[in-house]
Amino acid sequence: MTVLPARRLLLVHAHPDDESINNGATMAKYAAEGALVTLVTCTLGEEGEVIPPELAHLAPDREDRLGAFRVGELAAAMKELGVTDHRFLGGPGRFRDSGMMGAEQNRRPGAFWNTEVDAAAPYLVEVIRETRPQVLVTYDPDGGYGHPDHIQAHRVAMRAADLAADPGYRPELGPAHAVAKIYWNRVPRPVAEAGFARLAAEGSVFPADAVIGDVPGVVPEERVTAEIAGGEAHTARKTAAMAAHATQVAVDGPFFALSNNLAQPIFTTEYYELVRGTSGAPEGTRETDLFAGLEDTEGLDGTEGLGGTEEVTGA
Ligand SMILES: [Zn+2]
Repeated sequence: MTVLPARRLLLVHAHPDDESINNGATMAKYAAEGALVTLVTCTLGEEGEVIPPELAHLAPDREDRLGAFRVGELAAAMKELGVTDHRFLGGPGRFRDSGMMGAEQNRRPGAFWNTEVDAAAPYLVEVIRETRPQVLVTYDPDGGYGHPDHIQAHRVAMRAADLAADPGYRPELGPAHAVAKIYWNRVPRPVAEAGFARLAAEGSVFPADAVIGDVPGVVPEERVTAEIAGGEAHTARKTAAMAAHATQVAVDGPFFALSNNLAQPIFTTEYYELVRGTSGAPEGTRETDLFAGLEDTEGLDGTEGLGGTEEVTGA
């Protein structure tokens, strides 16, 4: 029998680094509060471009050892965030990074994009039924910005949430569990605009700036229903976690760049759109807690013997 913390958050991401860039402050906050934070990363990010010249030999068109290296970067990032439960969908290397949309890697056997949703979803069903999250965070149907692995991560996450709740589906994967709330990652357009304005005013070490279109999940602010403020402590953790992905991310104070070397702001508040479940905030206001409105989840984390934890009898 396993006793789980009262609050349980599951995040589904495509590649190592996506979690820290999108949700690093949120993950650090809930981990610090004693919630169970589970990260499922769908690929090893084997097709990424490598920033540090001394590591260029890892690249897929050379030694093709980037995936294994990024497993280590992700572990270091999770240490920064205080997250101990991080897994790869189906185990490390089960699904390979598909590369950018239209690349020939899209069609490679074993590429995540080249995998049936229903072939990948059972691995996530098993995680959902084991960790029993009340809250699931993933991307929107466009994957935030159209990358095939991000789109597929969205599809697999949404499909697995449905299947996990169906007691008739593969009972050997664990007792059915319905996720109460599902959120998609968002950035309100005015926040993105303000971030780039600050970048333009202050400047960074990077040779040029990205544009808002490079930021995944930007939407009109009315779409945003929840925000998690990182504050100094969780933002520091997020920034350190991003820097731990050194093959993919370069950090300069409050700014960062991917391998294209274009500067972007690091968002210290992270934003979400509730797409399933009921908001716990008063009408017309944003939630400031992803668990808001859920029963038996307040003030119960990280302490043994309190009510509200969930006991799961092992299958
Ligand atoms: Zn990614």
